[in-house]
Amino acid sequence: MTDNRERLRRFVLAASRWSGVARMAGPHLSGLGAILMLHSVTVKPRAGLGLNDHLSITPDFLDKAIADMKRSGFSFISLGEMVEHLSSGRRCKVATITLDDAYLDNFTEALPVFESHAAPFAIFVAPGLIDGAIQPWWEVVEGLAMIRDEVALPASVDGTALASASPAEKLVAARHLCELMMTRVPETYRQAILDEMGGRQVATSPFMSWDDIAAVARHPLGTIGAHTINHYNLARLDEEFALIEMRGSADIIARMTGIRPQFLAFPYGHMKAASEREIRLAGEAGFAAAVTTRHGTLHPEHRDHLHALPRISLNGRYQEIGHLRTMLTGITTFANSRRRVVTL
Ligand SMILES: [Zn+2]
Repeated sequence: MTDNRERLRRFVLAASRWSGVARMAGPHLSGLGAILMLHSVTVKPRAGLGLNDHLSITPDFLDKAIADMKRSGFSFISLGEMVEHLSSGRRCKVATITLDDAYLDNFTEALPVFESHAAPFAIFVAPGLIDGAIQPWWEVVEGLAMIRDEVALPASVDGTALASASPAEKLVAARHLCELMMTRVPETYRQAILDEMGGRQVATSPFMSWDDIAAVARHPLGTIGAHTINHYNLARLDEEFALIEMRGSADIIARMTGIRPQFLAFPYGHMKAASEREIRLAGEAGFAAAVTTRHGTLHPEHRDHLHALPRISLNGRYQEIGHLRTMLTGITTFANSRRRVVTL
């Protein structure tokens, strides 16, 4: 979804690249490096209305991005090493690759790229998505609007029917459904409502199997992190339930792989999904560090904010090396937040 922040980022990316501002900003803004955030990595173009295009990059772009960062002096280290690096206060350019949700293509298409570069990576797993107890609702609502001429909402939501015959109507309907799912529908009812709407008829992206996940956990370059059990927005749950979702995902992953995850990625990770309370709970749940989806480079100050680490998204809509270089200067961090160091 294109929002104002994304439009701002796009403007800054273009402007700073041409003006040389990014280069002049130097190490003051770029800091120690960055944690990259990826989702799907595949050659397959996304069939849809474009709502989820930001979630998918090609293996070729991933390969070029890693190669370019290496050429400009970045060392790729594991998330565990990054946490040690932040704590040590050492100053050198380092980067860590993270992937949320454990799409199957991470194993089949991204892993060979990581291996060819000997680049460590961490994949954050939500067991509910792996077991199929929940669907990736962001794909389901897009799919429903695509395959139907009208999407009827259950009475428990508001009972209305959304027109979705023309391409323009489909887009409006899908966006409206996204908004409902994020704000009106309680987290724990979402899948039941999708089921009622026929969501299981929608083909969604496949996820890694537990065998694949266990193989990554044992892989010398791989780390498996926790992403809650059911990919709920933790900020919409009461404290006890949020803690169960965090701890429970680590318990399940430990049981299935034999290795207990040390790191957490907050589902959605934005301001309305990961705030002071969730950051505190991630520490209480026993995680050594946690990542958000806030946009930002890393700085020595993050040693005191290990459960609120920002990331730089490799966004499917901006698969250009120039954009990545600009983001790594830290100038877009500042443009987005008016802060050099992003925590919450
Ligand atoms: Zn996620």
